[in-house]
Amino acid sequence: MISVEEYLEKVLALVNPTKVTQTTIGEGLGRVLAEDLTARLPVPPFSNSAMDGFAVRSADLGESVTHLRVVGDIPAGATATPVLAEGQAARIMTGAPLPAGADAVVQVEKTNQQPGDVPLPEFVEVEQVSSGANVRYEGEDIQLGQVAVERGQVWTPAVAAAAASVGYGVVRLRERPRVAVLATGSELVHAGEKIEFGQIPDSNSVLIAGLVQEFGGEVVITESVADEPCQFRGALERAGAVGADLIVTSGAVSTGAFEVVRQVLDGQIEFVKVAMQPGKPQACGTVNLDGRDVAVLGLPGNPVSVFVSSWVYLRPLLAAFQERQAKWPESTAVTEDGWKSPIGRLQFIPLHVENGKARQIHSLGSGSHLVASFHKANALGVIPADVERVDPGDTIVIRPLKGL
Ligand code: AMP
Ligand code: MG
Repeated sequence: MISVEEYLEKVLALVNPTKVTQTTIGEGLGRVLAEDLTARLPVPPFSNSAMDGFAVRSADLGESVTHLRVVGDIPAGATATPVLAEGQAARIMTGAPLPAGADAVVQVEKTNQQPGDVPLPEFVEVEQVSSGANVRYEGEDIQLGQVAVERGQVWTPAVAAAAASVGYGVVRLRERPRVAVLATGSELVHAGEKIEFGQIPDSNSVLIAGLVQEFGGEVVITESVADEPCQFRGALERAGAVGADLIVTSGAVSTGAFEVVRQVLDGQIEFVKVAMQPGKPQACGTVNLDGRDVAVLGLPGNPVSVFVSSWVYLRPLLAAFQERQAKWPESTAVTEDGWKSPIGRLQFIPLHVENGKARQIHSLGSGSHLVASFHKANALGVIPADVERVDPGDTIVIRPLKGL
C-alpha cells in the first residue's frame, strides 16, 4: 500500500496544463487567470468627490458659516473643471473630478442650498470642513503598475470588476480541462429507469460529472458501459475523439473477476492500493488515444469512495490543469459520535459539522455504499492511520466540503 500523499504525487504528475485564451472579462467565470493584472489605471483614476455638495478650499473656511462665490457646476463625467481661487466654490456631484485649487467637499446638507435638481446658485454658505473631507484621492485603492489581481486567481464577478477598474477588457484565462466520465458496471441502469433484480441505478456518472464542474472542469462526454472490454475500449476511443484532457472512470479497478478497467489498461496505467478508507483501490496514468497522451484517473466503484477520492485527488488534479493549487483548509471539531477506524489507513468519514460539533451522517459510519446519505455531509473527518477508535468527545481534524 502507498500513502495518500504518495498517490496524490502520482496523480499530479499526469498534469498537462490547458491552453490559455484571450477572454473578454464578462466571460469565463470559474476559469483561472493566467497572468498578473498590473494596474493600467490607478483606482480611482482621478481625485473626485465622495458626496453631492460644494468643492471648497478648506483654508477659506471659518469656524462658523462662510459665504463663497459659486464659479462652476461639476457633474459626474465632467472632463474639464474650473480652477478655484480664494473665496470660491463649485457645485460638485459624487464621482465628479475635484477642481484644481479645491481640497475638500462640503456635502449639500451642510450648506444653505437644497439638494436635488435646483438651479446653480450665485453664492453658497458652507459649514467648516477640514482639508481632505469627502475627497477620494487618485490611486488610493491601487496605484498605476501595482498588481491588482494575481495569476492563478479564479475568475469571479468581483475579480472581473477589479480587472475593469484597472483598465482591462480582455484577459488571458486558462481553458477548463476537458473531462470524459466513464462509469463501468454490468449492474448499472441509467438513473430514473426501471431496475431488475441485481441491477442498481448509476449514481457515479452524475456524481463525478457534477464534481468535475464544481472543481472547474468541463464535462465533454459521460458514458456508462458494461463490464465488457470491447465496450470500455469503445468508450475510451470516443473520449479521445472528443478531445478529453482527462478520463475519469468509476469501478473495475480492484481485484474482482470482471474488472474491465484493469483488463483493458493493465500495463498502460498503474493500479495501486492506497492506505485510505474508503478508496483503497485506485488507478492512474496516461493512455495514448489518436496519437495523444490522455490522463486517466481510475476511481473505485463504491459511491462514497468516488466522492472521497474526487475530493482528495480529482479536485487538486483539475486545479493543476489550470496551474492553480486547490486549497483545502483543515480545522478541528469535537465529535458527538464514536466509530471504528482501520489501523494503517487514513480514514475519511462524511460528517455534518455545526458550531464545532461533528455528527456522523449515518449510524453505519463510513460505509462506502451509503449513497443516499452522504449528501448530508458538509465536511470529511480525517482520522490518522494509527487511530483505531474515535470516541464521543474526541477532537478530530475536519476538511470542509462546502463554502470553498
Ligand atoms: P467495483 O469497484 O466495480 O467492484 O464496484 C464497487 C461497488 O460500487 C459495487 O457495489 C458496484 O455495484 C458499485 N458501483 C459501481 N459503479 C457504480 C455506479 N456507477 N453507480 C453506483 N454504484 C456503483
Ligand atoms: Mg464493477
